[in-house]
Amino acid sequence: MIIVIDGPAGSGKSSTAKKIAELLDIQYLDSGALYRALTFLWLRTEPSDLSKFFEMLPDVKLETEYVHPTFQVKMNGEDITKEIRSQEVANHVSEMAAEPKARSFVNQYMRKLVKHDTYIADGRDLGTAVFPNADLKFYMDASLEERAKRRYRELESIEAHVTFEDVKQNLKERDYKDSNRSADPLKKDDGAILIDTTGKTFDEQISEMVEIIREKSN
Ligand code: C5P
Repeated sequence: MIIVIDGPAGSGKSSTAKKIAELLDIQYLDSGALYRALTFLWLRTEPSDLSKFFEMLPDVKLETEYVHPTFQVKMNGEDITKEIRSQEVANHVSEMAAEPKARSFVNQYMRKLVKHDTYIADGRDLGTAVFPNADLKFYMDASLEERAKRRYRELESIEAHVTFEDVKQNLKERDYKDSNRSADPLKKDDGAILIDTTGKTFDEQISEMVEIIREKSN
């Protein structure tokens, strides 16, 4: 079984998916972390030459594991869980995610992984492109202001130099790029259930979604 949650940056997808995974005792998959991992590797190797980067992609070994509350990522044996959350990676990830070769690498990894267990996964195109036959599809949204506040709270203790305006601008630019790229853009699937979290408490939105999942599983 696969449940997907799509939506713009900072809409609460990952914290929601993690909580649901914990409550229902299922696996969690963070697809954004995979694009961040490729971006991290790209920035570290040869930023100016993407074609060279894609040539080495078949040799890249990606490993992920969800150990509550962290989605852990290893690339070629190196733990890069923390590094992929930096603002520098956030500033370049939409560029990487617009590349069809990056998308097919990530999609292949995810489709293989979910064969072996029940998953809740979050991303941008999971309901529309990666898992069009998902058992249940959600689309989460909230106002830009609210999303920026949440993301800023998460980042402020890690990167003290980053301002609220930097975070808001980054979310706005990523949303624009993610929604307007030609390769699998961010879009609500017709069959996805819209969850607008503006003004809702975390517990309220979790209960609403868990109820929908339980109804679907019965
Ligand atoms: O979810 P998160 O904000 O960590 O995602 C980082 C970036 O990865 C997004 O801004 C988007 O560019 C890309 N992404 C994507 N498709 C997904 C998940 C993430 O293009 N399914």
